[in-house]
Amino acid sequence: MTELAHPKKTVAARAEDLMKIYGKDDATVYALDGVSIEIFEGEFTAVMGPSGSGKSTLIHCLAALDTPTSGDVYVGETELSSMKDKELTQLRRDEIGFVFQAFNLVPTLTAEENILLPLSIAGVKPEPAWFDTVIDTIGLRDRLSHRPNELSGGQQQRVACARALVSRPSIVFADEPTGNLDSTSGAEVLGFLRRSVSEFGQTVVMVTHDPVAASYTDRVIFLADGKVVDETRNPTTEKVLSHMTALQTRVTAGS
Ligand code: ADP
Repeated sequence: MTELAHPKKTVAARAEDLMKIYGKDDATVYALDGVSIEIFEGEFTAVMGPSGSGKSTLIHCLAALDTPTSGDVYVGETELSSMKDKELTQLRRDEIGFVFQAFNLVPTLTAEENILLPLSIAGVKPEPAWFDTVIDTIGLRDRLSHRPNELSGGQQQRVACARALVSRPSIVFADEPTGNLDSTSGAEVLGFLRRSVSEFGQTVVMVTHDPVAASYTDRVIFLADGKVVDETRNPTTEKVLSHMTALQTRVTAGS
C-alpha cells in the first residue's frame, strides 16, 4: 500500500506526467510512461526498480541532464522546459549536484582540485566553513593532495560526493553511487549521504537496486516499466525486500 507523505513538506523537485519515448513503431520504448512524483526538501529518497525500469532516465530528467519527450520537471518553482540553454547550465551549476556510479573524477587533478572544480569553472570561491565541514564529514582531510589513482574506490566516491555538495546545491542526485564499491566502502558513502541529509538538511535522491542502500533513506519510490508502482517510508532492508518480492510476484502474475 502507498503511504502518503506529510502534506506540509516543501517540494524540492517534481515531475508531472513525464514521458520519455525512444525509437518508433515496433521498436518504441517507453522509458518513462507517465511519471508524476514529488521530491521533498531535506529528505533522502531512493528510486528502485528492475534494470530498464527507467530509474536513470528519471533522475537525469529531474537533474536537467536529459529532456523528457513530454511532461514537466520543476526544480523548486522553476519549470525546466521553458528555460534557455544558458539558464539550464546555470541551474545545473547552482542548484544541482550529481554523483555518478563511475566517480567521474579528473585523473590529473588532486582530490581537493576535483572537489573545487565546479566552483573553479564558475569562478566562485568555496564558503570556507562549509568546505571544512564537507571535508571533515567525508573524512579525507589527509588525502586532499592525492590524485584519484592514489585513492581507493570508496575514497574516490567520497571525493565525488564532496564535489556534489560543496556548492550547497538545493538537490543532489546519485545514480547507483555504491554500484562499483565493496560493502564497507559503500557503507561509508551511504553514511556520508545520510549525514548530509540529517545534519545539514541536504536533499538527496539516489538510484539503487540494493535494499541495504535503500535502508539508509527516508523514502523509497519503486518504478517498473517506466511507471511509479509503489512507495514506502522509513524503509528497513526487510521492508524493502518484501516490497520488491511483492512487485516481482505481481509482474510474474501479470506476464
Ligand atoms: P534503469 O536505470 O532503470 O536501468 P534506464 O532509465 O536506463 O533504466 O532505461 C529505461 C529504458 O529506456 C530501457 O528499456 C532502456 O533500454 C531504454 N533506453 C535508455 N536510454 C536509451 C537510449 N538512449 N536509446 C534507446 N533506449 C534507451
